[in-house]
Amino acid sequence: MELRSPLTGQPMGELPTSTAADVEVGAQLARRGQATWAARSIEDRAQLLLDFHDHLLDRRDYFIDLLQSVGKARLSAAEEVLHVALTARYYGRTARRYLRSERGEGLVPVLTRVDRHYVPKGIVGVIGPWNYPLTMAISDGLAALVAGNAVMLKPDHQTPLVALAAVELLRSTGLPADLWQVVHGRGAVVGRELIDASDYVCFTGSTATGRTVAAQCAGRLIGCSLELGGKNPMVILDDADVETAAEGAVRASFSNAGQLCVATERIYVVEPLFEPFIRAFVARTQAIRLGDAPDFDHDMGSLINHDQLERVCAHVEDARSKGATVQTGGRQREDLGEFFYEPTILTGVTPDMDCCAQETFGPVVSVYPVASEEEAVASANDSDYGLNGSVWTTDHDRGRRVASKIKCGTVNVNEGFAATFGSIDAPMGGMKDSGLGRRQGREGIRRFVDVQSVATQTGIPIAPSHGLDGKSFTSVMTGMLRVMKKAGRA
Ligand code: NAD
Repeated sequence: MELRSPLTGQPMGELPTSTAADVEVGAQLARRGQATWAARSIEDRAQLLLDFHDHLLDRRDYFIDLLQSVGKARLSAAEEVLHVALTARYYGRTARRYLRSERGEGLVPVLTRVDRHYVPKGIVGVIGPWNYPLTMAISDGLAALVAGNAVMLKPDHQTPLVALAAVELLRSTGLPADLWQVVHGRGAVVGRELIDASDYVCFTGSTATGRTVAAQCAGRLIGCSLELGGKNPMVILDDADVETAAEGAVRASFSNAGQLCVATERIYVVEPLFEPFIRAFVARTQAIRLGDAPDFDHDMGSLINHDQLERVCAHVEDARSKGATVQTGGRQREDLGEFFYEPTILTGVTPDMDCCAQETFGPVVSVYPVASEEEAVASANDSDYGLNGSVWTTDHDRGRRVASKIKCGTVNVNEGFAATFGSIDAPMGGMKDSGLGRRQGREGIRRFVDVQSVATQTGIPIAPSHGLDGKSFTSVMTGMLRVMKKAGRA
């Protein structure tokens, strides 16, 4: 399969497409490697992640360059590298806390002992999207790996190179070669094969594909986490600092040219801040520097491909033709590259317009005036999605209170997405159509293990014995239950 640069349209190289037989051989190797890997101590496995953290930071610029080749501005590329390093350090430091065996409370105090063990699933299949081709391909796999699993990764067919480079770096850091397999090709073919070879699937991508993946996993009775799309709301309360909110809205809406699952696409501004916010937001958006140069002087890069460009153009044209106002942007920029599009702010968007409820996944955001905090929250929640939201206010307690009413898996106060995304201790994922399960935090590693309970009984059996018949055994147990409730036992 030929890989083409979205910037120049020029070929960047060719990769073999994996066949069903390749996936099968990869799975055999992964399974063999996993048995030995799981037998190693958690500390040993965690050390690999901590070493990888250092090696990745040492090679930061190489990875940023590779990421820029898919059209990213340099800062967006840098953020991905830092996110992988943060994840490696987090799970390198916390794996023992989340995975070591624990004691539970037994039925009969002292005589029943319960041990909980966290057993790796086996092979974790990771299916990644093209928009964050490094961190969405690697970070989940790091958590799976330290939990004792092997990983089989299928990066998006448009952006496999950076994932391959990261796996190569993991191997040179000490990862046993068989343990992390990479297969390449289109999702509907190689993705399906990968799911059939896996014991758990970690999928990041669109809601439509997520449903297909979930159905296939259900058929095999294996678990999956689904990190899907969003139509992410931002709520600007009446006590917000307009300039701070406008600056935050630029980052929240236009990072990675809006091709970010947690990017803001709807902004609700409580009156009387609507007009001043629009003025500040438009001014800051017009100052965004578009370009793909390998420097930090450009803020926003290119869209990934023709389909993305077409979707963005269609959403804007549909809104414009039905009466929305384009406050700024709304234009393709072929002078900069085939798939560049200006950051775009719309007002006057109504429910009959496609961009009102559907995910655009590009640099297009709609801003709406609302009369009150209550209306802002109700509008934010009026969506099939529930991935990420944000609240802007000068009163942090109020911000946290309002945040708790927004039905999204992550909500940031006075930041668009980076506070939750960058805090690896903050679980991330979707409510409603935005997905199932969480990456990051304790939940992000526990999804890759089965919990096994081992209970050891000593002294007496849990049955009538020592001269007790069924009736007296039931009476003794009833008394014991009452005493234990009084004693505060769960
Ligand atoms: P996509 O669903 O088209 O593809 C994602 C991956 O799934 C690709 O690797 C693709 O090859 C594979 N795939 C496609 N069909 C498959 C099938 N039948 N079986 C198995 N695998 C299959 O998504 P995309 O266009 O690459 O990514 C954009 C979408 O991803 C957006 O909706 C975005 O919001 C979402 N996303 C979500 C998160 C998150 O964390 N929630 C992060 C990044 C992107």
